[in-house]
Amino acid sequence: MKKTLYDYTYEQLIDYVLVHDQKSYRAKQLYTWLYKKRIATIDDMHDVSKVFRDHLKNEFETNSLILKEKQVSADQTVKYLFELSDGYLVESVLMHHDYGKSVCVSTQIGCNMGCGFCASGLIKKQRNVTAGEMVQQVLFIQNELDANDERVSSVVVMGIGEPFDNYDHVLDFLKIINSDHGLGIGARKLTISTCGLIDGILKLAEEPLQINLAISLHAPNDAIRSQIMPINRVFPIKDLMQALDVYYEKTKRRITYEYLLLAGINDDVKHANELADLIRNQNAYVNLIPYNPVPEQPYQRPSIKKAFAFYDQLKKRNIQVTLRQEHGVDIDAACGQLRSKRMKEVES
Ligand code: SAH
Repeated sequence: MKKTLYDYTYEQLIDYVLVHDQKSYRAKQLYTWLYKKRIATIDDMHDVSKVFRDHLKNEFETNSLILKEKQVSADQTVKYLFELSDGYLVESVLMHHDYGKSVCVSTQIGCNMGCGFCASGLIKKQRNVTAGEMVQQVLFIQNELDANDERVSSVVVMGIGEPFDNYDHVLDFLKIINSDHGLGIGARKLTISTCGLIDGILKLAEEPLQINLAISLHAPNDAIRSQIMPINRVFPIKDLMQALDVYYEKTKRRITYEYLLLAGINDDVKHANELADLIRNQNAYVNLIPYNPVPEQPYQRPSIKKAFAFYDQLKKRNIQVTLRQEHGVDIDAACGQLRSKRMKEVES
């Protein structure tokens, strides 16, 4: 598989052009073409010499992502299925919020975390998605938005895959879209969601980039969490909380917890109280997510009444909480659902 120019952070691209006997300003020119003018081919880069353009054309693929399918839901959420140059499929989602357009990016082909409720893990990890392939997911959608003069204003790394199981590519990706020479999406508009890989959390704590961290917690105790998320047997809640304390000490950034409500499993008021006990001393915020049922998995979503009782209890306990507004339920927008459906069609 050939690399693309989209794989390079700005600093890496400066190193690259210097190694190839170009002046460092060449990196800025290339970034301008790629991210500001958003050209389709290297030949469009008019102020780059023909010799160097030919060199780049030899070394790099221009575009390694093709649109295979697009679904638009009633609330205008758009789900994209892309094919990569080796034939694997990735999903991205565009959501329209009152605060702007948000893109959800996939970081791996399949996932090894094995969460019992999730569609992504039905297919084991085949490979990591590269930084350039993640960049191109955002760029493709930005190019579509260009028609209406609109911008991708935030990016959530919450699609298929575990970002901290692909740490270096994910961080490069975020640096590339954050760069002022590139798309310039503010660090505070970037969010990584993890099932709780502690080494990743501790590494992120050391990064200068001020991005948001979301933890897929989904349970207030080890018994339930280990039952639905195998990773909890490796990194139990106590260790996770310790790592998050370190993260908070270093970054002073508020932590978001995602808590999926699964009927009869983790959705009782007593679980809300247990959750409040667990995080009451933290600067944290809980995002309650009603489960989006996956046919292959045994879990159901609780009633709205039950979800609100959970929400009310957290409020009563002075925990900052929201009940997530759902996007694109009618288009299989939960992670991995569209792709696993297409894969099954191919297999059968
Ligand atoms: N591996 C990362 C990011 C991908 S999953 C993580 O675990 O955070 C993104 C979020 O969607 C996670 O919180 C995940 O638990 C949640 N999720 C997975 N399947 C879902 C479903 N069917 N309905 C609603 N949310 C789901």
